[in-house]
This record gives sequence, structure tokens and C-alpha cells, in this order.
Amino acid sequence: MILLNPKQHDRYYPDGRSREIMQLLIAFFEKKGLKKVKQDDHARTWYADFLEFVKQEQLFASLLTPAQYGEPGYRWDTWRNCEFNEILGFYGLAYWYTWQVSILGLGPIWMSKNESLKLKAAQLLKEGAVFAFGLSERAHGADIYSTEMSLTPLPDGTYLANGEKYYIGNANLAPMVSTFGKMADTGEYVFFVADYRHKNYELIKNVTASQNYVAQFALHDYPISEAEILARGSEAWDMGLNTVNIGKYNLGWASIGICTHAFYEAIHHAANRRLYNMSVTDFPHVHQMFVDAYTRLVAMKLFTLRAADYMRSASLQDRRYLLYNPIVKMKVTTQGEQVIDLLWDVIAAKGFEGDTFFEMAARDIRALPKLEGTVHVNIALIVKFMANYFFNPTEYAPVPRRDEPANDDFLFDQGPARGLGKIRFHDYLPVFSGFDLPNINIFKEQIAAFKDLMSFATPDETQQKDVDFLLALGEIFTLVVYAQLILENAKIYHVNDDLLDQIFDFLVRDFSRHALNIYSKAISTPKQMDYCLRMICKPAADAARFGRVWEEQVYSLKDAYKMNP
Ligand SMILES: Cc1cc2nc3c(=O)[nH]c(=O)nc-3n(C[C@H](O)[C@H](O)[C@H](O)COP(=O)(O)OP(=O)(O)OC[C@H]3O[C@@H](n4cnc5c(N)ncnc54)[C@H](O)[C@@H]3O)c2cc1C
Repeated sequence: MILLNPKQHDRYYPDGRSREIMQLLIAFFEKKGLKKVKQDDHARTWYADFLEFVKQEQLFASLLTPAQYGEPGYRWDTWRNCEFNEILGFYGLAYWYTWQVSILGLGPIWMSKNESLKLKAAQLLKEGAVFAFGLSERAHGADIYSTEMSLTPLPDGTYLANGEKYYIGNANLAPMVSTFGKMADTGEYVFFVADYRHKNYELIKNVTASQNYVAQFALHDYPISEAEILARGSEAWDMGLNTVNIGKYNLGWASIGICTHAFYEAIHHAANRRLYNMSVTDFPHVHQMFVDAYTRLVAMKLFTLRAADYMRSASLQDRRYLLYNPIVKMKVTTQGEQVIDLLWDVIAAKGFEGDTFFEMAARDIRALPKLEGTVHVNIALIVKFMANYFFNPTEYAPVPRRDEPANDDFLFDQGPARGLGKIRFHDYLPVFSGFDLPNINIFKEQIAAFKDLMSFATPDETQQKDVDFLLALGEIFTLVVYAQLILENAKIYHVNDDLLDQIFDFLVRDFSRHALNIYSKAISTPKQMDYCLRMICKPAADAARFGRVWEEQVYSLKDAYKMNP
């Protein structure tokens, strides 16, 4: 079974410690129980119990210390971090968030050449510390060029930091807050660390109403010396972007974890609820909604797992992960919203009940598309790769499943963030040609029509400058890449034909919807509209296949998992 089931934990690990970490994490939450998780959520209780457990079991230390700075068995290993992410999302986004912002805070530290700060971070991890990433500012949102936090040089060679940061998780408790700013005199970018315990560090407030502390903080003449500086200039800029390249990937796992738990809860409820002398799961439209939710969820997981293989295989010569990770970020997380919408339409009022996991899921699933760059920011990034993806493929050695117990060195040595337009991809066509299923074949025709639009009705200069139009094209491009990696992983995970063709049933429908969107744009040309009509297709109906997927793979999960009360 591809979905996580904490009560039948069977993921492959090459070593015992990795398995132990996941089992400890599951045991912590199952022992805590759903009632207490929900009580803490409603009361917005700071998760001191969780952080104490993390410290006792050396969890963040084991998972977030690169091998060369840690004890034996410590390493930054994306394969195992994936599941840690997923389990945290499965039990509560608040727990995931403190881990996630620790990852972001550690990014610039592990990328830095400042060895003593790295040793300090490794020691703090052992002591159970959390970390924070101070990039955003209240007035500037996604526009980090406008950062106002500044370091003013003093005659003795030290600096005074002044400025405010906003939306910074863990900034109430992190002894190392990786903070982005500019030199007051030269305007050069800089990354430095600040300590929340310093008297010139003002913790202003928690800007959210949640268990998390998402801080507004200010530095007032906060003294900084070379010892606290992580990097300057383009190196500081790159470490900000390269950290987000890693961090944004985790958002997909949070969505997958949330959706998986919500799915189990929803199908259990629906199968046991009787209306008009039958179960809710007897309604044909409920079959459709559950099959859609399940296939979307499996697709989210197949794509995200495959993206990790590329991230672990990345090098300065192979930067394909820079396309796949933003897709995890914007596509997987928005698919997560759709999964929750579908499930909520089935369970209706139950989704409001305070003692369900679902009530929390319905709120939290909305956060993921908005963190670490909005959906738009990520599509705007994704479209930069479109020309090379479709028209300029190249050869790479095949990338297998990357589940070996290795430290992912390249993540902290990603090099300059620029040059995205030069990145090339392996040809998508052979991947699709390796399958002959009705809906995959329809999808291939849709891709061909889109490629024809790009070749023979190429968006003109005005259209290329229109972000709204570009985003609409970007949605289709994203869908093609999404489908490609799903297929690559379908082979690796031996996904059966029924399920795969059912996944492509929704992918064909989504393709058609996005084509209609381009068709409807005020500035689309008649020629482009013709190509859009070619892209609008109906999936291949097969009642027997649908019935098998429903019975064997979806309905069969009705009693698969229930969290301990
Ligand atoms: C709960 C929470 C926790 C957070 N934690 C942290 C943290 O720990 N550290 C941290 O540094 N930040 C954190 N953030 C900030 C988060 O990363 C920002 O919310 C995000 O970068 C977007 O900024 P914004 O929400 O202010 O949107 P804005 O930047 O105000 O965007 C407004 C609109 O403009 C669009 N837009 C902006 N730029 C572009 C573009 N280039 N192309 C196309 N459209 C564009 C956006 O899509 C959006 O629709 C957190 C935010 C929240 C809500």
C-alpha cells in the first residue's frame, strides 16, 4: 500500500536507526492520542511536550546534522526526512512547522563557510534547540529585494543590526535565527545569526492565532561581529534562495500527511453512516468523490517521492530538481486542497466537529500553498523551464530510487542560484511512450496539441509579458511534468494499471479544464483557441476499471486506520 498507515508501518529503510526514529515518532503521537492533540490545538498550547521528546530522542539532531558535524548515524538524508515530514503532517501541522522552520534556519548555517557557527549549530541540535529563518518582512512579502533589516558598520569592524522581521517561526525560542539583511553603507546582502535571548532582540508578538509562534521581532542596535556573519553579497542571496529550494519541497509532504489522515477518517465515517437505509458509501457520487480524492492523493505521493530522487541525484551539472521542487510546492499542495474539498463534501457536518482530525486538516491544508512563495511565485519560476523542457531535451543517466543511507552533501553546496534558463531536462516522450493505457494515450494527444500551440501559435510578446496568461500556460506545463514523474514512479512502485489509468482519468480532465482557461482568456488568439479545443478531451470511461479501483483500493481502506483516542 502506498499510503502511510502508522499502524502498519512498513516503509523500507536501509538501517535500523531510521526505522526506529519513525516508530518513535508514531508512538509519541499515538500515545498522546487524538483527544489531547485536539485539546492542545484548540487551546493553542505551545508544544513543549513534543520538543522535549525531540530532545530526549535526539531526533532533529539525528536527522538535521550533516554527517561531518554529527555523531555516527547522524546525517541529512532526504529519503528518511521525507517520511518524518509525512508523519508530522499526518498528526498535526503545528508539529511539522517547528521542524520545517528549523530546516530553513539551518539551511544558511550549513551552507556557510563559518565553521564555528556550524559547530555551534551541531551542539545546539544535540541540546534540543530549534532554529529559525528570518527572511520575510512585514512590508515586503515576496519582494525580498526590498529587505530593510540592516547592518551598520562601526569603526572597530563590528556592526549594529537594526530592523524588523515578520512571520518568523520559532523566533521565540531559537538561539540561532538566520537573518537576512543588507549592509547599511553598500547595500550588499548579508546573512547573520541573532539570538532571541539577547537584550537587544525584541520579540514583539505572535502574528498568528495558533499553537505555533510565528513571530514579529525587532533588532535594536543588536551587536554583530564577523563571528555571527554567515555570508555576504551574492553568496548570502544564493543561500536564501537555495535554502528555500530545499524547504519548499517539504510542504508537499505536509499536505500528503494531512490528506492521508483525513482520508482514513472520512472513509471510515462515510462507510459507517447510514442514510435512507444504506451507507453513504453506496451513493455513486460518493464513489466518484472518494476515487478522485484517493487517486489525487496517490499521485501527489508518487510525484513527491520521485522529486526526491532527483534532489538526491542533483549536482552542478544536473539541476532538474529546480523545476520539480517548485512543482511539489505549488501543485502537490493545491492538489491537497482539492483532496480535502472532495472529502469534506462527503462527510459534510462531521468535518466541523471539534474532536475530529478533519476539522484541523480543513484549516491547515490552506496554509501550504501560501508558505515559502505563493503558488503564483512558483508558477512564474516554473515557466522559465518550459522552452528547454519541450524543445531542447538532453541525455542524463537514469535516476533510480534513491533510498540509500547517504548524506545529501549537494543540498548545502548548490552553487549560484542563477542560470535557470540554461537547465536542461531528459526527454519526456519516451517516458509516456512506455505506457499504453487508454487515458495515458489521451493525455499524450493533449500534450501534442499543447506543444503545437507553443510551436505554431507561439505566445507573442504582449502575451509573454502578461503574467495572467503566462500562469495559465504554466498550469498546463506543470501538469505535463507532474504526469511524467508520476509515470516514472509508477514503474518503480509497480502501480497497477487500473489505478494508473484512473489517475490519468483526472489528469485528462484537469488538462481540459486548463485548456478551457487559456481559451477563455481575453488575449488568446483564434489560432490558440483552436489548439485549446484540441486539448479538451473526455477521459476514457471504463465502469469495470472504476469499480475495481473503488472496491479493491479505496473502499477497502474504510477500517484501515483510526488514531488512538
Ligand atoms: C504561517 C506563516 C509562517 C511563515 N513562516 C515564515 C518563516 O519562518 N520565515 C520567513 O522568512 N517567512 C515566513 N512566512 C512568510 C511567507 O513565506 C510569505 O507569506 C510568502 O513569502 C508570501 O508573502 P506574502 O504572503 O506577504 O504575499 P505577498 O508577497 O504580499 O504577495 C501578494 C500577491 O502578489 C503575488 N506575487 C508576489 N510576487 C510575485 C511574483 N514574482 N510573481 C507572481 N506573483 C507574485 C502573490 O502570489 C500574491 O498573490 C510565513 C508566513 C506564514 C503565513
